[in-house]
Amino acid sequence: MSGDARDRPAEGRPQDRPDEREARLTLRDAQAAVDAWIGRFEEGYWPPLSILARLTEEVGELARELNHRYGPKPKKPDEPEQDLALELADILFVLVAIANEQGVDLDDAFARVLEKYEVRDADRWTPGHES
Ligand SMILES: [Mg+2]
Repeated sequence: MSGDARDRPAEGRPQDRPDEREARLTLRDAQAAVDAWIGRFEEGYWPPLSILARLTEEVGELARELNHRYGPKPKKPDEPEQDLALELADILFVLVAIANEQGVDLDDAFARVLEKYEVRDADRWTPGHES
């Protein structure tokens, strides 16, 4: 991904909103922020399988919320609606922790995965109006 493409805002994305531009983070920034947070504590990074268990907990919380919203399972009467964005960010936080613990550069990895989809799935889906 070129720097120009990354800096070009697309309609409807958070970086289009003036009040959120300042808070824009790259994946590398997110990795540094998670590392700084975890570095504040003596325990440091958990072992890989423990972080993976934490990731599955967070994915479960997202699944629970989506199931309440779109599936057949009603909430308990006293159960508040959860913030879907925060549930997704919880997952991202733990995913970033796994990447850090494993020494993975997510900016590089995500660019590689986007490139993989561009090549592998180029003709898989019906082109939309922006293609
Ligand atoms: Mg959560």
